[in-house]
Amino acid sequence: MIKLAIVSPCYNEELVLEDSAKRLSDFLQSLISKGKITPDSFILYVNDGSKDATWSIISRLHKENRFVCGMNLAHNVGHQNAIMAGMMTVRHHADACVTIDADLQDDVNAIEQMVDRHTEGCDIVYGVKVSREADSWMKKTTAQWYYKILDKLGAKTIYNHADFRFMSRRALNALAEYPERNLYLRGIIPMMGFESTTVDDVLSPRMAGESKYTLRKMLRLAGDGITSFSTRLIELIIYTGLFMLIIAFCMFLYVIGSLVINHYTAGWASLMMSLWFIGAVITLSIGIVGIYIGKIYTEAKHRPLYIIESTLMHADDETNK
Ligand code: UDP
Ligand code: MG
Repeated sequence: MIKLAIVSPCYNEELVLEDSAKRLSDFLQSLISKGKITPDSFILYVNDGSKDATWSIISRLHKENRFVCGMNLAHNVGHQNAIMAGMMTVRHHADACVTIDADLQDDVNAIEQMVDRHTEGCDIVYGVKVSREADSWMKKTTAQWYYKILDKLGAKTIYNHADFRFMSRRALNALAEYPERNLYLRGIIPMMGFESTTVDDVLSPRMAGESKYTLRKMLRLAGDGITSFSTRLIELIIYTGLFMLIIAFCMFLYVIGSLVINHYTAGWASLMMSLWFIGAVITLSIGIVGIYIGKIYTEAKHRPLYIIESTLMHADDETNK
């Protein structure tokens, strides 16, 4: 039997917390009754600098519900860092953890299979979305393309897996060794190489409220995924440069040829086009290199990923530290 911690990040989730806590604690209770997890297993809600009543609800639930624990981050650090804060804390209190979004769009029942797979020897179990009915067409399509591109660029990720996953303490301790600032957990965790497997995750619609992943946050995550795991984009610039060099050489031959036969056309339009084209390629290339340099800059500063303002644990969890 393992002591399980469920880590759930919350950003302005006042509408879903009550239901979420009820469903998760009922579920923990059922696993305890089946003898799969210990009775002191718990849920850790990580409040990611919410502006609404999220933290006061978590504090109240902590008093009323023996499973609910809470962690209050000093400011909004984003989904990935909030999960990391939760995982790095529970590894001192539990044998394993499952990360799941507070809106419980993922299939809560899949957690039982995750625990079973762990009993069979897996350190990491990924929830893989088998149905994305609940996602909009746009989100579904862009996400699936994104996973494919990421794969082509050489980053090892699990297709259709977001951050619904089980990790043993051993895996969490290994994750703690990665001092990354630009966090993209879906890229780092498969890289660690523990015994792992997947379980099916049927996605349902959000319980209440709106998506907290704004387009900006999603693009930033997508950018992190690519630039933190692959330098192919920079390599691509070199190939583009070589290709342009070949075109330039052909142009040179053409101009010489025209001179020799004394017949050259006044090519204002083509000149302007190539000028802008080359300008665009150079600017884009500098931009791509800039992105990587920006990453080196944030990595070099070594700022903390998150600041914990306060933590609410139950007595037996405190002593287990
Ligand atoms: N979230 C967070 N910090 C943020 C944005 C989101 O902790 O800055 C949490 C949010 O509360 C939720 C999870 O991350 O539990 C996933 O967000 P959401 O469900 O809004 O994203 P979607 O499912 O629409 O991709
Ligand atoms: Mg969601």
